[in-house]
Amino acid sequence: MNRLTLFAVIAVLTAWNGTTIGQDEDAKTFRAVCSTTQVADFTRQIGGDRWQVDCVLAPGQDPHTYEVKPGDSRLVAEADVCIQNGWHLEGHDWMLNLAKDANKPLVTCVNGVKPLDFDEDGMIVEDPHAWLSPINAAIYVKNITAGLKKVDPDHADEYDARADYYVSQLRSLHSWIQKEVNKIPRAKRVLISHHDAFQYFATTYGFESAAPAGWSTGDEIGAGITPQRRAEVVESIRSYKVKAIFVETTINPQVVRQIAKDAGVYVAGALYADSMGPAGSVAETYFGMMRENVIKIVSGLK
Ligand SMILES: [Zn+2]
Repeated sequence: MNRLTLFAVIAVLTAWNGTTIGQDEDAKTFRAVCSTTQVADFTRQIGGDRWQVDCVLAPGQDPHTYEVKPGDSRLVAEADVCIQNGWHLEGHDWMLNLAKDANKPLVTCVNGVKPLDFDEDGMIVEDPHAWLSPINAAIYVKNITAGLKKVDPDHADEYDARADYYVSQLRSLHSWIQKEVNKIPRAKRVLISHHDAFQYFATTYGFESAAPAGWSTGDEIGAGITPQRRAEVVESIRSYKVKAIFVETTINPQVVRQIAKDAGVYVAGALYADSMGPAGSVAETYFGMMRENVIKIVSGLK
């Protein structure tokens, strides 16, 4: 076979199959675009090697205040399915709008979760931070699995098997958290953090949770706080009689550290709430993130 003939054969084969010679016909063929790092991790675990999973938010970015970029629309244009947290975690519904504009199917992970109330700028809405209880994370996994199966029904058994395994791991995580939390005396189970992200965690594991004076991720704490508001926050922290409070990895801790000092408490570390940790860190997966949070909470409060 001369070179020209060989090229012609390759060209015909490529056109016939849509793939190049030697490529595994079972190779990854589907794409999911997720809003948050947690949702992307769940999707990777269920999709396995059949899916390329991209995430709009980078680790450490705040979903409440995120503003979409032109690159996000290009990413979504390539997606077979979009996956979001829902309940307005994605501020101003940016993921819903990205999917709608590109006419892509959208999976909303909180569907089926029993909501807790959340005060958003004086309006009572569903608290979107449901993944911080592993029991709710299992509902996220169920919704994502259904979404992937819809796109690729031929491999439904695989997705179900991965989901079953993952949910069994979530159950183990839940038992472990219960055991760890029992090391903190009941009266000391008060979880004070930056913004009200830990309600589901707190409800599941018997904590009182508070984000004093309704701290939000957006404006107030970052961009300057009035002396009066600051005094209210300090008083509010004192009233809980805790020895430690927590910051969050997505929010600048500087002001909170000063406030903690004034309130006579210490900052027992940064918790992962709205985002997992960067690639290569111990919190780059959901399990790593939850384990780190629990270890910091238990050692800070017991
Ligand atoms: Zn949040």
